[in-house]
Amino acid sequence: MKVSSAAVPVLSILPEASLGLGSTQLCCAALQATSLRNQVLYPTSAAYNESVASYFAVNVQLDPTCIVQPHSTEDVSLIVSTLTQTGETQCPFAVRSGGHTTWPGAADIGQGVTIDLSMMNSTTYHKDKGVASIQPGARWQAVYKALDPYGVTVPGGRGGPVGVGGFLIGGGNTFYTARVGFACDNIENFEVVLASGSIVNANRTSHPDLYKALKGGSINFGVVTKYDLKTLPHDMLWGGLVVYDNSTTARQLSAAVNFTNNIHNDPYASWIGMWEYSSTTGQNIIADALEYTKPVAFAPAFHEFTSIPNTTDTMRFATIYNLTQELVQAAGYRDVFTTGTYKNDVKVLRKAIDLHNNNIEKAKAHVKSDYWAMDTIIQPWPKLFAQHSVEKGGNVLGLERFDENLIQILFDYSWDDARDDDLFIGLGQSILEEVGEYAKSIGAHNEYIYLNYADKSQNPLKGYGEENVEFISRVAKQYDPDGVFQCLFKFAAQSTRIAVEPIMKPARAVSTRSELARSNRSPLGALPPILSTPPAVSRASGRPGFGPDDG
Ligand SMILES: Cc1cc2nc3c(=O)[nH]c(=O)nc-3n(C[C@H](O)[C@H](O)[C@H](O)COP(=O)(O)OP(=O)(O)OC[C@H]3O[C@@H](n4cnc5c(N)ncnc54)[C@H](O)[C@@H]3O)c2cc1C
Repeated sequence: MKVSSAAVPVLSILPEASLGLGSTQLCCAALQATSLRNQVLYPTSAAYNESVASYFAVNVQLDPTCIVQPHSTEDVSLIVSTLTQTGETQCPFAVRSGGHTTWPGAADIGQGVTIDLSMMNSTTYHKDKGVASIQPGARWQAVYKALDPYGVTVPGGRGGPVGVGGFLIGGGNTFYTARVGFACDNIENFEVVLASGSIVNANRTSHPDLYKALKGGSINFGVVTKYDLKTLPHDMLWGGLVVYDNSTTARQLSAAVNFTNNIHNDPYASWIGMWEYSSTTGQNIIADALEYTKPVAFAPAFHEFTSIPNTTDTMRFATIYNLTQELVQAAGYRDVFTTGTYKNDVKVLRKAIDLHNNNIEKAKAHVKSDYWAMDTIIQPWPKLFAQHSVEKGGNVLGLERFDENLIQILFDYSWDDARDDDLFIGLGQSILEEVGEYAKSIGAHNEYIYLNYADKSQNPLKGYGEENVEFISRVAKQYDPDGVFQCLFKFAAQSTRIAVEPIMKPARAVSTRSELARSNRSPLGALPPILSTPPAVSRASGRPGFGPDDG
């Protein structure tokens, strides 16, 4: 266990009264008093505003008192020590990697310090061990690019710009899940900075309890500063997007259920079904993402999908980098995700799509946004996934307790006018409730909630099952006895923390930054919905962001 030698309880020696500073300003002043002074950013600087604007969703862009950008594990250790060794003064802080979570307070904070890990973004391949060491601030597209010359890849995000840090500690569903389990199951070692500032390595032999807990347990134990991820040979993939008319829904849903039940027969095949309405085209279409993780076209596993007449498709042989440039959703809008998991029953899927169609009509009647989109995204969650997890030593998602194939639905809504926040957030939450009630009524309910898609109104850890919640609590107490990562930053994430006390709602600073962001957006956000040279399918779907490098 190492502690950064520069760590001293600076805050306790700063004279708050004499400086006339508020407590969160004092926290920033304490960081400023360390060797990291040039890495502490304030609202007046361009770098601060760049960091805030780089969150995926505009509605999560809060205004922290300051942002600190570590460049190394030792920097993180110094930051955490400084913020926690504060005597009477508590420093509220948040931890951010890619900033792709869609609810405010998950990876940022209104009043306090945001630890922005985006400068820690390297990928290093270790051929002898067959692992890639990846820092949390990397984006998946950069990871794939860095590994490509070595002929290897890793199971990671399916949208290139998605962040590494949060993805890997929430599970991580990838094109390879049916072959190798969730991304987190493929982690050989986590390097972690604990609340004390100590640096530990968690793996099968060193801190094995922390190692397991981090596979799904998210931000409950410390700041992960490096992930050693097992690599795979990088074969060319066959994949792309296929767009269909909405009238093919019944055939699509039947194919989805059969695909999910048969995935163990061909784990190279991956399918994501997206029912999408976009205000740009006024069309309500279906887009299937079909990906095969070896260079074989039209594998029989896809037959039910590929035999449905389509409008347009981009199917081709391509690298993972190329495919993850296509499956991108535009950053720079307001977003809400809500998600549920169900028995693999076509009736639940039909209900979800009927409600999706109703929600589009409800939105049309009230919407003020110029641009808005509503997606219902269906993904297989078969027991095969959990079997891989168990074989690889286990995680805390708790999926192995379900002896049946599951299917997951993500409701993903985007819009551009803050006056529609209540409308779309309300629709996202009510559709989830209605599908959940229906699923219960036909015995198709499942309590698992995928943390990486969960809204702040949901409680994904509860869905891991009692045994796992107890395990997470025990490990958190052992490695973070003062509960820094659960209690200290109360403005943050009830849904990803073990709730040890009532958590306050995020600060209202949310709308301040949002209003600002709307009028003064990054060049990317100010672009019209369709970005540069989208593939054919994007033009058909009108979905913003199936273009390169946004996010
Ligand atoms: C467009 C889009 C595409 C997506 N595609 C996929 C997909 O293909 N598969 C999938 O499974 N999910 C996907 N997701 C969901 C994604 O996994 C989550 O949004 C995930 O949190 C992204 O990681 P991040 O680094 O951006 O997290 P952030 O938003 O930065 O953080 C998420 C949480 O993790 C904590 N955290 C972040 N970094 C660290 C760290 N280093 N140490 C400790 N805690 C940390 C934060 O405090 C926060 O609570 C997608 C999301 C979007 C918006």
